[in-house]
Amino acid sequence: MQLDDSRPASTCADDTVRPHRLDDFIGQDDLRANLKVFLQSARERGRPLDHTLFYGNPGLGKTTLCRIMASEMGVNLVSTSGPVLERTGDLAAILTNLGRGDILFVDEIHRMPASVEEVLYPAMEDFKIDLIVGQGPGARTVKIDLEPFTLVGATTRLGLLTSPLRDRFGVIFRLEFYTSEELSRIILRAARIMGVDVTEGGARAIGRRARGTPRIAGRLLRRVRDFAVVHGQGRVDESVAVQALDRLDVDPHGLDQMDRAILTVLIEQFQGGPVGVKTLAVALSEEVRTIEEIYEPYLIQCGFMKRTPRGRVATARAYSHLKII
Ligand code: ADP
Repeated sequence: MQLDDSRPASTCADDTVRPHRLDDFIGQDDLRANLKVFLQSARERGRPLDHTLFYGNPGLGKTTLCRIMASEMGVNLVSTSGPVLERTGDLAAILTNLGRGDILFVDEIHRMPASVEEVLYPAMEDFKIDLIVGQGPGARTVKIDLEPFTLVGATTRLGLLTSPLRDRFGVIFRLEFYTSEELSRIILRAARIMGVDVTEGGARAIGRRARGTPRIAGRLLRRVRDFAVVHGQGRVDESVAVQALDRLDVDPHGLDQMDRAILTVLIEQFQGGPVGVKTLAVALSEEVRTIEEIYEPYLIQCGFMKRTPRGRVATARAYSHLKII
């Protein structure tokens, strides 16, 4: 199975094509327009940006937007992630080293331990932290002032954030899936940077099968380029792209082997559902989190699956797509 879409950290390949300015960021028009206002206002007031939370599927641009915020504000960016912050001291060390206006990016913020989260509350609200120094009867609390900073959180699961944490963000942005037209613009831009010769038709063919996700578009572009280099003249046109994507087992809706396996198991072993996600995960030998965070949102978005209180259900569209009667 391909787990690279769930990876929080960016890969080197991602970094080469990542836009650095808001004007180079394609899609998410409403979000972009609002962020532009908040950036300009913060700059004109000479104040740090409000704490900002991005939520949405993996690969939609949360990390990219955070980096854009730092470069547009001309401040330092310190990146970490929820599961890495195991002890309160880890977070305290990072917070006390932040300079005025710096951005602290916490990816997968919903996976931060509760004890660490509590250190964040006064830090976000009053730019102060309470540190416990020493142990046992001699332990005492020391208040430390922090420089005003901006916390940018990213999560794939807004519902798993506690409400005290969620309420402390001044701005909450939801990232949507991209249209295939936006994805083909993203592909043409990435291809230009990577020096890959892609026609508009080639970009559209890849964009249509990229599951609404820029990271997947980038990955498919690199794989299709490999086919073009080995089997063609190096140029990615529509027919090269379609042939390569077929060989990569990415179907015209962008579904890959795992997506189809989920729908097939749902229909053939569980009569189309409803079935609980845990049972489905066991039947597929897959992790619940991977199904919930990587596969399901797109299957639901495309109308192949429904999430009901009693479990997952395959839709008529799934039956006809898989040609199961
Ligand atoms: P997330 O943090 O949501 O998992 P990233 O910000 O790491 O996603 O984006 C994944 C990849 O997709 C990066 O290579 C990034 O350059 C690219 N990307 C994401 N959104 C856009 C966009 N709107 N325009 C161009 N490239 C994008």
